[in-house]
Amino acid sequence: QAKDAGRGVVRYFSSELQSEQEDRVRLEADLRAALELRQFYLAFQPLVSAKNQKLVGFEALVRWNHPRRGFVPPNVFIPVAEECGLMGPLGELIIEEACRAAATWPAPITVALNVSPKQIILPNLPNVVSQALARHKLPGNRIELEVTEGVFLDSSSRSLDILGRLRALGVGIALDDFGTGYSSIGYLNKAVFHKLKIDGSFVRDAGTRPGNVAIIKSIVQLAKDFRMSVTAEGVETAEDFERMRELGCDTIQGYLFGKPLSYDRANQLVMGLDARKLAS
Ligand code: C2E
Ligand code: MG
Ligand code: MG
Ligand code: MG
Repeated sequence: QAKDAGRGVVRYFSSELQSEQEDRVRLEADLRAALELRQFYLAFQPLVSAKNQKLVGFEALVRWNHPRRGFVPPNVFIPVAEECGLMGPLGELIIEEACRAAATWPAPITVALNVSPKQIILPNLPNVVSQALARHKLPGNRIELEVTEGVFLDSSSRSLDILGRLRALGVGIALDDFGTGYSSIGYLNKAVFHKLKIDGSFVRDAGTRPGNVAIIKSIVQLAKDFRMSVTAEGVETAEDFERMRELGCDTIQGYLFGKPLSYDRANQLVMGLDARKLAS
């Protein structure tokens, strides 16, 4: 009896594993096809000034519209795209679309885009970026690249070198999800970053966790000392906003001011046609 049950369990796990592998293979195939079928597009989440709540720019976030799967979050498909060698072409598409959008908006509206650690060390990132800027006649300072501390886990000197070359194009470099990684903060000395982004996990329950407030205070101080600006992510309520403003954050991002929007909706915000909660 026990032996049978044991076998059953083993068989159960192995078929689970097998179907997981099949899912993964299918996901890879769908991702590959998605590039050809142009199923990827960008959503734009507003960033506002903490001082006057005016729109200062957007973060571009990649979206995958798959007819059968529906919404697949980037946290799920980006790591798969990285592992199966698709981050190069997908990353180029993201850079191209972000620059195209930014070029339709007036300065000083900026568009931030995310660059994954594996994408940073692809050989030609600075060229891809400078060519996209040139194609759209866009000054480098109208876009920002967001990288996480993950870029310093391996190939850190190479990553720093590449970030420095991007910086030389005038492109802003923001350190995303700051404080959630495992790397040292010594690299702040290299002065490649112009901005720290405080992760939403510190922001959202700052009201009930004094520890989070302490962390946010020290991030803001660190940013001041290194002449960087600070963005608070994940601001969902008016209380969150007020707290982050008082703590000295320069810009604010979160559902309070808008979820990631289609280009058309974002464009309406820029044109002042959609006032929402933003000051005009
Ligand atoms: P991230 O760069 O830190 O982006 C912020 C995430 O927080 C976005 O999720 C955004 O929709 C979400 N968010 C913004 N405000 C709020 C809020 O007030 N409340 C809550 N609960 N969430 C909020 P999303 O779009 O699912 O992206 C998740 C992560 O996937 C991003 O984190 C980024 O690491 C990655 N990602 C997204 N787009 C791209 C891309 O184009 N390229 C790369 N390499 N990674 C991307
Ligand atoms: Mg980001
Ligand atoms: Mg973030
Ligand atoms: Mg994140």
